[in-house]
Amino acid sequence: MLLSRDRGLLRRREIWAGAYVYSHRPDDQLKDVLSRFAPPLAPWTRCTACNGLLRQARKETVHDRLHDGTQRSFDVYAQCADCGQVYWRGAHHAHLEAIVAEALRDQAPASAG
Ligand SMILES: [Zn+2]
Repeated sequence: MLLSRDRGLLRRREIWAGAYVYSHRPDDQLKDVLSRFAPPLAPWTRCTACNGLLRQARKETVHDRLHDGTQRSFDVYAQCADCGQVYWRGAHHAHLEAIVAEALRDQAPASAG
């Protein structure tokens, strides 16, 4: 499913499953897409560069891809099995974690009672 704000792109015949994203604000786009399509959520499992699967990585195996400061500050890494991109819980992680937590909370079935 291609999600886009480009109506011209969505009209192309090669696009067999596409949907227009109404808002230009990322927060609203996320809520819109989650409410319309309710995709299964699996946070922190996919590479944001290529969508490959992430796997835990040892610092020793990814050290050549890290700046010295990163190596000193973090011990837990994930690496994309397809493109090799390395991830760690850096400065933006708390903000991202809050976004993910809200998405998971919004998508959880409402409890009875
Ligand atoms: Zn990747």
